[in-house]
Amino acid sequence: MNSHIMPTYARLDVTFARGEGAWLWDENEKRYLDALSGIAVCNLGHAHPAVHEAICKQSATLLHTSNLYHIAAQEKLADALIALSGMTNVFFSNSGAEANEAAIKLARRFGHSKGIATPTIIVMEKSFHGRTLATLSATGNEKIQQGFSPLVDGFVRVPYNDIGAIEAVLHDNTSIAAILVEPVQGEGGVNIPDADYLVQIRRLCDDYAILMMLDEIQTGMGRTGKLFAFQHSALIPDVCTLAKALGNGVPIGACLAHGRAADIFVAGTHGSTFGGNPLACSAALAVVETLTKSDLIAQATQKGDAIAKALGDKLKTTPHVVAIRHLGLMIGIELDRPCGELVTRALEAGLLINVTQEKVIRLLPPLIIDTLQINQLVDTLSTLIQELTA
Ligand SMILES: *Cc1c(COP(=O)(O)O)cnc(C)c1O
Repeated sequence: MNSHIMPTYARLDVTFARGEGAWLWDENEKRYLDALSGIAVCNLGHAHPAVHEAICKQSATLLHTSNLYHIAAQEKLADALIALSGMTNVFFSNSGAEANEAAIKLARRFGHSKGIATPTIIVMEKSFHGRTLATLSATGNEKIQQGFSPLVDGFVRVPYNDIGAIEAVLHDNTSIAAILVEPVQGEGGVNIPDADYLVQIRRLCDDYAILMMLDEIQTGMGRTGKLFAFQHSALIPDVCTLAKALGNGVPIGACLAHGRAADIFVAGTHGSTFGGNPLACSAALAVVETLTKSDLIAQATQKGDAIAKALGDKLKTTPHVVAIRHLGLMIGIELDRPCGELVTRALEAGLLINVTQEKVIRLLPPLIIDTLQINQLVDTLSTLIQELTA
């Protein structure tokens, strides 16, 4: 532990020295299977050659000029994301929280443009949207908000996957300007809503002329078996935020807007010094090209199904497993008891996993994980779960 770093994280006692694909090696050359991908960031695995090459080329040419000028890589990345998403335009940031800040500001300005004096956003219980003041206020987790009051105003909270609750708020509250929701809740416990949940939200947003805003920071970039999770449903959101896997480890976020949400920001209404700089955009372009010119996204579906099925088979006689949920390679195994210690035990066994909501083992393996690695993941994890619950 380094006392010169603020202790905002309870870090595991390991330092990684290098990585390749789904493997990581620590300083003592011990090898680990990475089933977390730096929290859904390294979807293409570690040291991906296309990303490596893009970064090298760009850094040898031009790293940064600021948004006072045109940026070729930013324009190319915007074109690619717009073509692939069906959205209209994009604002680039450096992180997920910043992408959501842009979305929240956009919703506020949209509300004011409709004559709403106090534009309010419907958000969900158990949601996670980031750690800045506005995004932690939007987040449905009191632990994350603890000690940071006064929170940012303008959010009302409803249970996740409950259309009736949204309808009730919309019926009573004329200040609603937007709904902000994750297509699958990640930090909240890998919660997968009903198949028509997003379609119903789309319908309500149309009926009430408010913005449908999707936080795809964790679900985006192929993670769930589509480039964007909303593509599992036949709809286009008004706003969609990305970050995490967009740069495969190079920090970049994006706030995409569609239709009437696309002309809310005008010159001077939002900005970022670093946002969309040549380095980050070159890396993201390499990520987008690699994902879309391969069958890695379809593989996320097959591999996620294979992992969930194999875990289900291995654990079917283990009584303490409450549920195994997954959409593509976003996988949650819920136990009937806290299981945080599994993270350390897995680390000792050379496997990186995460536990969220105390009882949900969360797996976010890279999309390039292979069959042997999948078998190792399933064997190691199911043994650890059986030992813990024995
Ligand atoms: C990680 C995450 C964020 C925050 O992203 P940062 O880059 O850490 O600011 C926001 N929303 C969701 C759904 C996330 O998973």
